[in-house]
Amino acid sequence: MNLQNKIKKLKEKNRAILLAHNYQRKEIQEIADYLGDSLGLARQAAATDADTIIFCGVKFMAETAKILSPSKKVLLPEIDAGCPMANMITAKDIIELRHKHPDAKVVSYVNTSAEVKAVSDVCCTSSNAMEVVKNIEADKIIFTPDANLGHWVQRFVDKEMIIWDGFCYVHSRITPEEVKTIKNKIPDAPLIVHPECRKEVIDLADKVGSTADMVKFARETEAKRIIMGTEEGLITRLKREIPDKKFFPAGTSKICQNMKKITLESVYFSLKKDQYEIHLSDEIIKSAKKSLNRMLEYSNTFKQIKSEV
Ligand code: SF4
Repeated sequence: MNLQNKIKKLKEKNRAILLAHNYQRKEIQEIADYLGDSLGLARQAAATDADTIIFCGVKFMAETAKILSPSKKVLLPEIDAGCPMANMITAKDIIELRHKHPDAKVVSYVNTSAEVKAVSDVCCTSSNAMEVVKNIEADKIIFTPDANLGHWVQRFVDKEMIIWDGFCYVHSRITPEEVKTIKNKIPDAPLIVHPECRKEVIDLADKVGSTADMVKFARETEAKRIIMGTEEGLITRLKREIPDKKFFPAGTSKICQNMKKITLESVYFSLKKDQYEIHLSDEIIKSAKKSLNRMLEYSNTFKQIKSEV
């Protein structure tokens, strides 16, 4: 029996669900019960009735699943699969910002630790950052940690935004020069980019959106060739799901090494040995959950989600 089938069997036996981010390896994508962006994964984690969640992504995502489903066992197959951007801000930084700007509300991207979420007012993803910043009852916003996403939102929102200087090393490696080169080579292909890209790249794009927005765009556009400004895992997914269209990276392939740490072997051992379980204190879960629930409310027209706390 191959490893994918062994994992499927163990999943059934352990009543486990496998949630995978769009940037995961092809072989992990193929066995996912749900494949999506941070917002979609957060919704799945909140709604599942499985006993165990195997989270194929990076640590902050597994922590988010634990916060939204605290009675579930949440496993991250590789203990050191972290997000460098999430490490660019700490809870102490947020507390200091709050002292400096007492009249501001803190909006933190989900790419943050559970501790940072716990001291924020509301979280956001790249899918709903604009809605969250527009809807939150404050004229002054502290936005952390991704500067490119913050500046993208600022273009559309008439509020004062204090933007932290974090960045994604994968998306910020996409340069305007390489984007122009590929656009010149295939001028009929629309360019869609992630808002974690730098401003000069965003300015060249036909559309800006989260990976979920990119999937939707790829399905709906009449264009047969599309240039994607994001991590190569999403291109892998689209090539499999939409074989009659062609997808090109915006320059050289950009790979998130942290996302790629998870392999079929580590997923198998994760299920077999219950490793590595995410543990968070009740206090952190309670406070972080408030920030996440506010995000889910703002981004889903106040629809109630299943809540365990
Ligand atoms: S792609 Fe960027 S933001 Fe996403 S996990 Fe990797 S480093 Fe973090």
